[in-house]
Amino acid sequence: MPGGVNSPVRAFKSVGGNPIFAGRGEGPYLETTDGRRLIDFCMSFGPLILGHGHPAVVEAIQTAATNGTSFAVTTEAEIEMAELIREAIPSIERVRLVSSGTEACMTAIRLARGATNRSKILKFSGCYHGHSDGMLVQAGSGVAGIATASSAGVPEEIAGHTLIAPYNDTVQVTRLVEEHADDLAAIIVEPIAANMGLVLPDKEFLLTLRRLTHNCGALLIFDEVITGFRLTYGGYQNNCSFKPDLTCLGKIIGGGMPIGAVGGSAKVMDHLAPLGPVYQAGTLSGNPISVAAGLATLQWLRKHRPYADLDRKGSEILNRIMPLADRAGINIEMPRAGSMFSFFFTPTPVKSFEDVKHCDQELFRKLFHAMLEQGVYLPPSPFEVSFASIAHSEEVISAAVKAFGNAFESIGASVS
Ligand code: PMP
Repeated sequence: MPGGVNSPVRAFKSVGGNPIFAGRGEGPYLETTDGRRLIDFCMSFGPLILGHGHPAVVEAIQTAATNGTSFAVTTEAEIEMAELIREAIPSIERVRLVSSGTEACMTAIRLARGATNRSKILKFSGCYHGHSDGMLVQAGSGVAGIATASSAGVPEEIAGHTLIAPYNDTVQVTRLVEEHADDLAAIIVEPIAANMGLVLPDKEFLLTLRRLTHNCGALLIFDEVITGFRLTYGGYQNNCSFKPDLTCLGKIIGGGMPIGAVGGSAKVMDHLAPLGPVYQAGTLSGNPISVAAGLATLQWLRKHRPYADLDRKGSEILNRIMPLADRAGINIEMPRAGSMFSFFFTPTPVKSFEDVKHCDQELFRKLFHAMLEQGVYLPPSPFEVSFASIAHSEEVISAAVKAFGNAFESIGASVS
């Protein structure tokens, strides 16, 4: 395997040291193949809101597997899943299931282009929308404008169809949209940015995107691959005063199995094949096991609505560790939304990728390893966010807080 992994962040390049190997998971714990039991705050980068191996999910997977792993024919469970998603997220009248978040975003972008007959897509620096060609881009010479490729293998002609602006910068995005108003197919945005660490949207930011797209006839795509069913039963958008045109989902809706989804109004979604001219397909789309795991997860969340409890867990973690960082003399910002949080080693609030780049990444590396040594697994990159699950009990949180205290002390000693 190139680099020993099937996805780059697992190689620990951002934090250095030896990657871990997973043996099994149980609730809030990840057990490594060399026998360590780690408190897991990575949680597979978000899908495992019910913790590792939740009995309802495991049982659903077992039953589905017994009945057949793939048919490439529509199943009743897919219909049930579509209905649940539609009921939970009012902007979604039609939904198509795909196999990953990347595919969901790629499909949403093609659909936006097909529905508007326009070519440009605007994204924000530091937001991640999967690894399709047009999304692997960065700002060119200015902070906003035509993007350039950020990966080898992406032709500049393709990158050039993407416009890029700083997150939370309404002035730059307004300027860009005005400049490209006639050829803008869509703005795609993470309503809470969770791929440059956690960066919360300013109050007017998302509303400005809605107004701008509405005025120029472009679509607004919310990439809720992370935020979908994480903060409330539905999307982040459920708490907004407006709706996006298209929504991308993934992670939680698959309960830890491969899945993605794109949804929106019937008017836009019906441009997809077989009804419309925008092509999209997948042998394993709506796979019975993924759908079973996702359905079990959504049904559990719908019944138990654990969101107030998850929010309390998130706030408890932060409220208890912030004073410990303070006491150790460490400048740290810890943005949080419900059960998601991240660490920025900086004295000032972080609003954009530019701000993120000025944080002390070396201190994150130290934090990561100090925590790992004490049996707590944080996501192995300063750009990923930490997740608590319903399985992170009071006792587990207390053990983690203690480890944070020790880690901050050792970091504090190393910087003073
Ligand atoms: N969008 C967002 C917001 C994501 O966080 C991710 C993955 N972390 C993706 C899209 C891509 O999803 P996947 O890894 O399933 O392709």
